[in-house]
Amino acid sequence: MDFEFSEEETLFREEIREYLTKNLRPMVPKIDESGIPRSFVKDASKLGIWAMPVSKDVGGQEASFIMSSIAAEEIARADFSMATVVMFLLESGWGYVLDKYGSKSIREEVLPRVTSGDWFLGIASTEPSGGSDIGNIKTRAIRENDKYVINGEKSYISGVLEAKDWGGGHLTLVRTSPNGNKGISMIYVPINEEGIEIAKINNMGRMGISSAIIRYNNVKIPAKNIVGEENKGFYQAMDGFNHARVLVSAACIGASEAIFDIGIEYLKNREAFGKKLKDFQSIAFEAADLKTRIEMARLLTYKAAWALDHEEKYKSEIPSLVAMTKMVGPQVAFDVVKSVMMWMGAYGYSKDALIEIAFRGIVSYIVGAEGALNIMRIIISKGIFG
Ligand SMILES: Cc1cc2nc3c(=O)[nH]c(=O)nc-3n(C[C@H](O)[C@H](O)[C@H](O)COP(=O)(O)OP(=O)(O)OC[C@H]3O[C@@H](n4cnc5c(N)ncnc54)[C@H](O)[C@@H]3O)c2cc1C
Repeated sequence: MDFEFSEEETLFREEIREYLTKNLRPMVPKIDESGIPRSFVKDASKLGIWAMPVSKDVGGQEASFIMSSIAAEEIARADFSMATVVMFLLESGWGYVLDKYGSKSIREEVLPRVTSGDWFLGIASTEPSGGSDIGNIKTRAIRENDKYVINGEKSYISGVLEAKDWGGGHLTLVRTSPNGNKGISMIYVPINEEGIEIAKINNMGRMGISSAIIRYNNVKIPAKNIVGEENKGFYQAMDGFNHARVLVSAACIGASEAIFDIGIEYLKNREAFGKKLKDFQSIAFEAADLKTRIEMARLLTYKAAWALDHEEKYKSEIPSLVAMTKMVGPQVAFDVVKSVMMWMGAYGYSKDALIEIAFRGIVSYIVGAEGALNIMRIIISKGIFG
């Protein structure tokens, strides 16, 4: 067993940490106010970080999931509002799916524009009637000659306004047959198609990336935009969720570490009752517990990323391992942010401390983005009991 990152992985981490500390961290309040700047997205593409697992012939790096997890951790360490890393992990996870299952023509149309930072790529699965029960989705796609005609509605979809503004779209789960999980297909739907209406949702956090409702009124999409085989979309989506969920956890670890470091500096300097806060054992013990939990989550996350990199060998273990990772990472991050806010007292509650930005962003992963916690528990318990 070897717990060391390779030299290539270490150098990559150092390179992007330096770039992101300089170019992303100072923009966190601005991102929370008015979105991820286009200029940053374009400039950061020179690091090869957008949709980095995809094939080189469409502009990707063919990066391992260990490498993508390093990038997710570093992006969220810099932008702990979580907005930039949401864009990153959606494009990595769903870019991977489009690359793996999509036809040559749809891969070549979309992925070079995503890897260059020009277009946004996301996932549209959740519907107003619920997100956890994917096998029950109702949005319909009916094949008419060389087109699919789509009717229905998706909600809480990330990156809709970005795709509208920059270009791009979503891998969209649609019903092509009545057979539950076996009647779902995945189609790439550009957001600017005729018949699409969108309505912004006002979230409490990760304000730098939009969430919206998408309504499809007889939207005609070329049949070549189907990703993989008809009626196999559910299984492809599970593959994508496995990859995106590991990156969610890596992001939560990066944000935890950034906020923890801010908290530790505060404890070293702030005094009460004639001594530094760090010298109160109750506080030092809390810091010790949190540091241990971050490390536990980190080990689990990199184990899951490593298992995904050896998919054939660990196929049966991957769903549980990924679900454990997605369950633990966001909860650790939430607890870190909450404790640091308490350590800072009134200052922690103010916008000046920036902690509330992380608090609002991380909650998205507790309530459900990329899968609710109870759904992770269902996957893990299925692994235990069959
Ligand atoms: C900020 C944000 C961004 C998002 N971005 C996207 C996106 O880009 N694309 C997309 O498709 N979706 C997106 N979502 C939606 C997300 O995938 C859903 O929130 C998630 O799947 C849960 O669905 P739901 O919110 O409808 O909750 P529901 O499915 O209605 O579940 C509600 C509650 O019931 C619990 N529950 C459900 N079923 C069970 C069960 N069998 N046993 C026990 N408990 C259960 C859940 O754990 C949850 O706590 C986003 C959500 C958020 C918050």
